[in-house]
Order: sequence, then C-alpha cells, then structure tokens
Amino acid sequence: MSFLRRYLKFEMKIFIGYILIGCLWILFSDKVVSILFSDAEEITRIQTYKGWIYVMTTGILFYFILRHHIRKLRTAEQMAKESDRLKTLFLQNISHEIRTPMNGIMGFTELLKNETLTEAEKNEFLKIISDSSTLLLNIVNEVLDISMIESGTNKVKISEVSLNNLMDEILNYFTHSVGNDVCIKVEYGLSSGNDVIKADETKIRQILHNLISNAIKFVENGHIRFGYKAKENTLEFFVEDTGIGISKESQKHIFERFFKDRPQNTKIYDGVGLGLAISKGLVELLEGKIWLESEPGKGSIFAFAIPYQKVDDKHEDSISYSGEKARTRQSTFNYLTILLVEDDLPNIKYITEILSRQGIKVITAVNGQQAVDLCHDHQEIELVLMDLKMPVMDGYLSAKEIRELRRDIYIVAQTAYVFNEREKTTVAGFNDFLAKPFNVEQLFAVINRFLERQHQ
Ligand code: ADP
Repeated sequence: MSFLRRYLKFEMKIFIGYILIGCLWILFSDKVVSILFSDAEEITRIQTYKGWIYVMTTGILFYFILRHHIRKLRTAEQMAKESDRLKTLFLQNISHEIRTPMNGIMGFTELLKNETLTEAEKNEFLKIISDSSTLLLNIVNEVLDISMIESGTNKVKISEVSLNNLMDEILNYFTHSVGNDVCIKVEYGLSSGNDVIKADETKIRQILHNLISNAIKFVENGHIRFGYKAKENTLEFFVEDTGIGISKESQKHIFERFFKDRPQNTKIYDGVGLGLAISKGLVELLEGKIWLESEPGKGSIFAFAIPYQKVDDKHEDSISYSGEKARTRQSTFNYLTILLVEDDLPNIKYITEILSRQGIKVITAVNGQQAVDLCHDHQEIELVLMDLKMPVMDGYLSAKEIRELRRDIYIVAQTAYVFNEREKTTVAGFNDFLAKPFNVEQLFAVINRFLERQHQ
C-alpha cells in the first residue's frame, strides 16, 4: 500500500479513484437500492436518478480532494519563491561582504609593487593584506557554519566537559586580545570537581567565543565579565560588557543574519553580522535559548541557557582538552622527511617554504599516484601531507594504497573541503586533519602530534 502511495502520482490516483468508484457504482448500485427500498415503483423512480447521484457525489468528492491538493501546491510554490528570494539576498550579502576585504587585498598588493615605498609603508600595507585575509577566512567559516546549521549537518556531540577548565582556556585565549584599558574576568558557577557536566564542548566554546569577540570589539575601556551559573535544570552562560550598548530598536533584530548595529559617529568595526545568528542557531541545536539585556552607552549582557546534564561518576581524567600549543622543536625536525601531495602551485611553494626553513626535507607529488610511487621508492618518508581532491588519483585512494605499502606511515589530510570531511578522513584511515588555509602554528601542531606519537 505504501508502495502505491509513494509511486502513484496524484493525477493517476484521481483517475484510478474515478474509475473504481464508477465501476463499483455500476456493479452494486442496484443491490444497494433494492436493500434500502422494497417498493418496486419506488425502486424504478430512484433508478432514474442513479446517474445524477453518481455525478453529484463524485463531483463534490473530487472538488474537495482537488482543492486540498492545489492549496498544498500553492503554499509550496510560495515557500519556494520565498526561499529563492532569501537565497539571492544571502548571496548578495555574502558577495558584498567578500568584496570588501578582497578590495583591500587586491588594492594593497598592487600598491606594494611600487618600488619607492619605505619599509614602514610596506609593513603597513602587508598588515592590511594579512588582516583582510583573516577577515575573508572568517567570512567563509561563518557562511559554512550557517549553512551547516540550516542543513542540519551540524550535529550535537556530547562528552564530559570540565566547565571551569573550559572557562580558563577561553580566558587565556582572550587575555591578550583585549586593550590595555579593558579588564576581562571570569566567573565560575560550580566548584572545581563539581564542574564536570555532559555537553557539547565545541559548541559552547564557539558561542562564547562569538559573544566575547563582540564584547572586545565594542568596549574601549571598562570590563568584560563572562562565566556561567548553575541553576536547577539549566546552565546559564553570560558575557557582560561595559561597551557601547545596543538600542531597543536594534535589539529586536540583533540575532538576524547580516544585522549590524552601527550608531552614527562610532568608529569602524569589522564583522559580517553572522556571529549572533550562528550563536542563536547553535544554542537552539543545544535545545536552549539566547537573549540579551542592553542599554546604549552603558553596555550589554548576552546570555544563553542550556539543559544541565550532570555527570554521575566523575572521571576527571577522561576529560579531553583540545587546546593546541605549537612547539617548534628545531632539533627534532632536522632528520624529518615529509611528502607533500598537492596540485596547487602557490600551496606547494607556501608549505615547502615553511617546512624547509625548519630544516625539514620536503618531497613533492602532484597527484595521488605519484605519491604512492614516491612512498614506495623513498622509505625515509615518515609523514605525508595529502591533499584530497587531485587529478589522476584522489587523496582517499592514494592514502589507502600508501597504507597498504607502509603500515606505520603518518598520513595527514589537508583540504579546503571542510564540510563533513574531517569525519570522512578519520574513517578512511588518515591520522590527522588540516583545514586549508592553515597557518604556521597549525601546521607545526600537526607535526608535533606526529612526533609525540613517535616518542610514545
Ligand atoms: P558581527 O560582529 O560579525 O558584525 P554579530 O552577529 O556578532 O556580527 O553581531 C551583530 C551586530 O550586533 C554587531 O554588528 C553589533 O552592531 C551588534 N553587537 C553584537 N554584540 C555587541 C556588543 N557586545 N555590544 C554592542 N553591540 C553589539
């Protein structure tokens, strides 16, 4: 039955229904009339109206079925049009936001060609290019975050988290970002030892990062206080600042995508206006709610509450910390040989330059097949930095073949396709993952993880 419902189109169902009702009426109408009426004269009279009864009943029945169906189609059409409009608007906004830092990068790269520039001017232009590139990467990451939340690909991953350690890590991270006239403080809602809960650490961290980054942007002097309070069944996280505050009107739209509150005569702030929309999406994924209290000129408090899941047994040892510290162990790098598998020339140059400066020997391959051959011929290769999308043979197949040749080799996936790719590479047997673009610290964090494994 469900098979019929799935594969028969609406018009086919109507046609079959019409034929079926007609056939049943022809076959059984005489019987029904003779059961209901006993008088022969009355039966003859009723029989003259049989055709009318059939036409009226099927007409009314099919009118209601068709009306219901057409209403559904009209709603779907309106929703599709609205979604199309929103998509176009989204793309227009993104395109505008991307063009702004791109303009900075392209413009100042062009200006750098001028040979009469002083060293100080060159450094200033390079800083603008570097800041614009970071902004561009943030935009791409935020767009990815939004689309993952909306498509339902961003799943909740619950693990045991020490909230106080998480707060300390966040405090450490931001201590150096605040200005000299700003004091940043943290408040713990539970004593250490009782602060281990079950939660999605990455999402809580990301939301707090968004809120604290905003606070830092909008406070010139004063304080930023963040932390959490434990209530009966909820955990309430907050970020309070004594910054410029937000008007009542803007508060109504603050969590909408691309909304930016820029009161006149204030300095220029960067940002796309996606951070709070992402934070709201993440809080909702955690089945919580987010809100704010703010007064222009006085400051703002952003807060979110999520369900409080206590941990019964406290295995504090099992709490994982994901903070990365890049250590450059010059002496241990000297003997290292890395195979770089990459088909993009600027990337090859960039990575080779960084690695060679640390005394690492770099061998390059431009496709997966070449990588397999080189791993076979050069037994001194210990680590492979593997791009995933390449001609001739892709990174997945290449890693599989290399693994068959050399069981202990350390293979790191490096890709710009970060959408779901991390999980896929873990399943495919890669040892580590690097999302492009990566900086020197992130690259050496991966190499250090490899060296730590060697020493175990
Ligand atoms: P972005 O910071 O990338 O512009 P957000 O979605 O994080 O985007 O924030 C949207 C807007 O909300 C910001 O542009 C700013 O106008 C306002 N806002 C957010 N946080 C604060 C804050 N702590 N103080 C004042 N205004 C804020």
